[in-house]
Parts: sequence; structure tokens; C-alpha cells
Amino acid sequence: MSPLRYDVAVIGAGPSGSMAARAAAEQGAAVVLIEEHPQVGLPVSCAEGLSLNGLRDAGIEPTPEVVSQEVASSRIYAPNGKYMELSLSGRVAYTINRDVFDRVLSERAVEAGAELMTGTKVTEVLRQNGVISGVFARQGGETLRIEAKVVIGADGYASTVRRTAGLGKWYPDVVTCAQYKLGGLDLEEPEIYDFYLGREVAPGGYAWVFPKSAEVANVGLGVRKIHTESPIKYLKRFVANDPRFKDAEIQLVNGGICPVSGVLETIVSDGLMLAGDSAGQLVPFTGAGVHTSIVAGRMAGEVAACAVDEGDVSASRLSEYERRFDALWGKQIRDSRKVINILDRFNDDDLNSLLYALTSEDILALVNGRDITRVLAGVAMRSPLKFMRLMASYLRG
Ligand SMILES: Cc1cc2nc3c(=O)[nH]c(=O)nc-3n(C[C@H](O)[C@H](O)[C@H](O)COP(=O)(O)OP(=O)(O)OC[C@H]3O[C@@H](n4cnc5c(N)ncnc54)[C@H](O)[C@@H]3O)c2cc1C
Repeated sequence: MSPLRYDVAVIGAGPSGSMAARAAAEQGAAVVLIEEHPQVGLPVSCAEGLSLNGLRDAGIEPTPEVVSQEVASSRIYAPNGKYMELSLSGRVAYTINRDVFDRVLSERAVEAGAELMTGTKVTEVLRQNGVISGVFARQGGETLRIEAKVVIGADGYASTVRRTAGLGKWYPDVVTCAQYKLGGLDLEEPEIYDFYLGREVAPGGYAWVFPKSAEVANVGLGVRKIHTESPIKYLKRFVANDPRFKDAEIQLVNGGICPVSGVLETIVSDGLMLAGDSAGQLVPFTGAGVHTSIVAGRMAGEVAACAVDEGDVSASRLSEYERRFDALWGKQIRDSRKVINILDRFNDDDLNSLLYALTSEDILALVNGRDITRVLAGVAMRSPLKFMRLMASYLRG
């Protein structure tokens, strides 16, 4: 088998991979973008929420093809059924069509000069003299040897690249999700996202209703280590208990894993970078990873192309990517993870009371990992004794 040779091989045509391939190709690198599925964007395993800023960072306009529903606000439901409404305060968000979004991103990568190989599954990284210098892949019945100066593993949470490169088998903590796309609905407020907390509904995580229109919604939930049943059982119960879904038709069942422990300790090595879910680059509390993947992919692609140009693809050269991503998202991801750790100590009664102690701005800040020390200090001042003790333990570190 004669090898194929590129400057940069990007594995996985999700948001991080297509952004990486596009950025590297725009810098003049010879790039291959390898996707295991026959069609980019399918199957969809996502609730499809994305901010306008996320779309902008991807360089994509919110056209009717890409966007299915604009979001005006969110409601956070405590376990006792009481909710707080959160206005997006000028921020714009959408339920997108992830299949279209991912396809358009990959088309942009191809327009920039990347070669897209679909139906091609990477099986392991290739090493020469101990250094990663490409990948092996299966295409049809054939094995391909693809040589590249830099490999970018953008192949999602189960990343074959990460595992075979020795950068970690799994994550310290994950959320396991189940989701239905429900049709035949008659939603009164399709512009509102609903989030539900509580151990009965989604232990360690939350349930969501993200409308795509008045008739169709992504309804799902994610659970963490403390759950006793499979996520699909929680989901069936959740849907059965909501009268809005009485006559719903299940159009799609999907799910997946969100790594929520934060960015992995090592995401670059000689000739190798990880981007997106494979690197754990999601906002842990929300499990939102599309925007971070877009940014990470772009940075990884830019740094990879420059490194190839300079003839230095060492880990130390490639770590510029790690530093740039950390400067932009690192603190927010670490802080959002701290919020999970705090809420793990709360039972449902605590969550009910907590909702009273928070303002809507506090909640938005906490779930997104923004400015949490100030928010928690404020909560500790106004809230019952138990929270003061819990918050104080956090503030002491
Ligand atoms: C149920 C659920 C709901 C979610 N909802 C949201 C949401 O509403 N908003 C949000 O921001 N985030 C959401 N997320 C998280 C978001 O989907 C991910 O963070 C995001 O898709 C990560 O992008 P990525 O490019 O890193 O990986 P992915 O999108 O997973 O893309 C990886 C790509 O690599 C391909 N691939 C995998 N292995 C190989 C291989 N060996 N060879 C070749 N190709 C391979 C895959 O087919 C895939 O196309 C959700 C996640 C789940 C599970």
C-alpha cells in the first residue's frame, strides 16, 4: 500500500475538525479531513443549542437552512417544579440544524483547499521512530496509510487518535445522555428553552427541552455517576410526565457522552494535537461543546499550519495552541467544573432553596463558569446557613 502524504491530517469532520482543516488549509497547508461516516453531519447526537457568537466564530450566518428556532429566554426548574426565567439579556441563541451546520462547515474546509475523505475510519495513529507521523484508516475493504507532519484528533469523545496515541483512554467524569426528537407537538412558547434539575429527573445532570419549532423539539437528559437507572429510563419517565408530550411522535432516538471533567492534562505531543470533545474542551456544567470546539479547531489548525511551515512540529511548538485556548476558555471551563462539584453536595431540597437565593444573572454566570467567586460570595451573604457553609468551603478552596 503506497502512503498518502499531507502536511496536516485532521480526523473527524465535526465542528472542531472542519474548523481545524479550514484554518490549516487557509494558511496554505496540504490538509486531509477524514470522516468515518458516509455523510458529514449525520447522524445527529446533539440538542442543537448554539449562540449567535458561536455561529459568528464559525463564520456562518443564521440563515433559515442553518437555524431552526431563535431562543428568547430559558427557564430553570427546581425539583419542586418552581422555575426561574432567565432572559438572555441581549445575547442571541438558536436551535440550529446540526446536520446542515456540520455539512456547511466541512464544505468551507473543502473550499479552503482541504481534501475531504468520507466513509474512512481511522483505526490507529502511525508512529515512525517513536513519533506520531500519520494514521492508518479503513476505507471500503482497504487499509490506508496516511502520513502527515501533524495529526489533529478531532474525533469526538471516544477519540481513537487520543487512545492509540497514549493520551488517555477516558475522562475522569462524563455525562451520559439520552434524547428524543419529538414531533407532532403544539408548543405554546417554542422560543423558550426549559432546563430541569433534580435527582428524580436527571441525577448529577439535567433534562432539557430545546424546541426546533412549535411542532418539534429535542427533549433529552444527561446523568452522572450517581444515577441508578439507564438515561433512557429517566427520559421515558420525564416525557411521560409532561402533558405537552402526550401525543408526541418520536422522530429520532439518540444520545451520547459529554466529557465534563474539563480539558485533559495533555492535549498536544510531538506531531499531535487534540481538539474539541476528544480534548475535553466542553463547558462542563452545560455540556455545551460546539462553540468551544469551533474555537479550538480553528486555533489548532492555525498553529499546525504555522508549525509545518517552520519545520518544527514538536510538542513545545504545538503547545501554542494549548496556551491560546486556555487564555480564552480555560478559566470558564475550570470554573464551570467547580460549580458541578458544589452542586454534587446539594440534595433536592437544597436545590429548591438555592433557586430562591440566586438571581437570573447569578444562574447564567454559574452555569457558564463566569465570575463565579463573586456570585458565590453574594449568595453566601443572602442564603441560609447550609449554603453559607458550603459556599465558604468553596471560597476557602
Ligand atoms: C445528547 C447531546 C446533546 C448535546 N447538545 C449540545 C448543545 O445543545 N449545544 C452544544 O454546544 N453542545 C452540545 N453537545 C456537545 C456537542 O455535541 C459536542 O461538544 C461537539 O459535537 C463536539 O464537537 P467535536 O468536533 O469535538 O466532535 P464531534 O461533533 O463528536 O465530531 C467528531 C467527528 O469525528 C468522527 N469520527 C469519530 N471517530 C472517527 C474515526 N475513528 N475516524 C474518522 N472519523 C471519526 C465522527 O463521526 C464525528 O463526525 C451535546 C452532546 C450530546 C451527547
